[in-house]
Amino acid sequence: MEITNQHAALLCSPGMGHIIPVLELGKRLVTHQNFTVTIFVVPLHTSKAESELLDASAFPHSLDIIKLPSPDISGLVEPDAVVVTRLTEMMRQVRPTFRAALHDMINFRHRCPTMLIVDLFGTESLPIAEEFGIPKYVYIASNAWFLSVMIYSPTLDEQVKGKFVDLKDPLEIPGCRKLFPELDIVDALLDWSNQQYDEHMLMGRGIPKGDGILINIWEELEPKSLAALRDENFLGRFVKVPIFPIGPLMRPNVSSIPRGDVFDWLDKQPNETVIYVSFGSGGALSYEQMVELAWGLEMSQQRFVWVIRPPIISSANETFFTAGNHNGEDDNLTKYLPKGFMGRTKDIGFVIPLWAPQVDVLAHPSVGGFLTHCGWNSTLESITNGVPMIAWPLYAEQRLNATLLTEELGVAVRSKIPPWKNVVKREEIEEMVRKIMEGEEGFALRDRAKNLKFSGAKALEQGGSSYDALSLFTKHANMFVQFANGVDPSSQVP
Ligand code: UDP
Repeated sequence: MEITNQHAALLCSPGMGHIIPVLELGKRLVTHQNFTVTIFVVPLHTSKAESELLDASAFPHSLDIIKLPSPDISGLVEPDAVVVTRLTEMMRQVRPTFRAALHDMINFRHRCPTMLIVDLFGTESLPIAEEFGIPKYVYIASNAWFLSVMIYSPTLDEQVKGKFVDLKDPLEIPGCRKLFPELDIVDALLDWSNQQYDEHMLMGRGIPKGDGILINIWEELEPKSLAALRDENFLGRFVKVPIFPIGPLMRPNVSSIPRGDVFDWLDKQPNETVIYVSFGSGGALSYEQMVELAWGLEMSQQRFVWVIRPPIISSANETFFTAGNHNGEDDNLTKYLPKGFMGRTKDIGFVIPLWAPQVDVLAHPSVGGFLTHCGWNSTLESITNGVPMIAWPLYAEQRLNATLLTEELGVAVRSKIPPWKNVVKREEIEEMVRKIMEGEEGFALRDRAKNLKFSGAKALEQGGSSYDALSLFTKHANMFVQFANGVDPSSQVP
């Protein structure tokens, strides 16, 4: 293990899907690089799942969590502003409090930060590191396609006249497949008249301003995209700093988890026969879509575990800020399912209200498929368990991830018309479920998912690409510490 006196300050944006990968990065820096770590989070205060996640007793001694007060942005964004707009505004407004907290740590010499790592929504805080004379990194808790789209967006903004959503031709982004704007690209980019478009551009310009970029993939997962990001003839023109693929980082499954009902049920099912259905921490479906999904699962006659939420009224975005709420206030969610569904599927199905122990469910040997909204954490949790997917993107970068999983990595199928555009009908759902659970195509998808599982595990082992990338990152950061202490480090860093 690297000998280091590094203390990393990690700034994390709100939301379970953002906190989870930052926590895992913090833990890995402690356990594998001997860092001490302070994670600054902006909690949403709405969710029991989030409180459990941030429970300090669960962390190593060298890792502190500091909760920053959530800023009031009600007068700064429209009441109906989308997630990206609200998150960027929250992270903008939290900067003075964050700066003061860092200042205190430095003044009182308590775990003095030697570097700052921000996530995607924290890039406007990078100058704070400069004020304190410490190096700064950006952690992209996503994939290389996503990073490429972010980095290339300001160039696309100059090239494309009019709205992206109206373009009929695919976009050519170095390192990615041709991407059709409406089908494959992140939704923030589609319409320049929405404020999230400007926020997206700011982030795209902000990421390369770090001294390096950490990304939650491994070298072998997207080698072509990483090569394009590093090549000066392609995206390397915009990214002059090193990229460290240090993943797949995700919550470990906990063998000591209480063996509740779902695990008792899973224990009784044959291996790889259950499809797990869940839409991440904040995703939910329309009532009409819930009914179609229920019928599709029933008609497929495949075993399933389904995390159900109350249907959304207007937009899939709206549930993000109440994600993970499972305070027992709504035990009667089955009222949204078709009449008699619970009785008819009692031998093949298990319904969980609101929130499931997902990592452990996906790791269970009986689970052989995942109908997922394609959030990057869920995707990694599926791949690292060798579980093929039905890609069901709802919003944000999920449609880009869906294309990566189906067209590039070959570990998922998806509906003909995207779920965020139209209700997917029961017959098509039945067909997709059968395809991944029992069809020839399903076996091929499972094989590829298993190959990725092994390649991801290998990357994290000593001598693996992600293991080495994290060591390189530490050396890179040590160089700054030595430089600040007046040592010439140029001969010591590869
Ligand atoms: N999650 C969970 N139980 C649930 C739903 C989600 O434990 O019922 C976890 C899931 O394992 C993942 C995270 O919440 O780690 C969701 O992150 P992801 O990036 O997949 O999606 P997001 O919530 O950011 O859209």
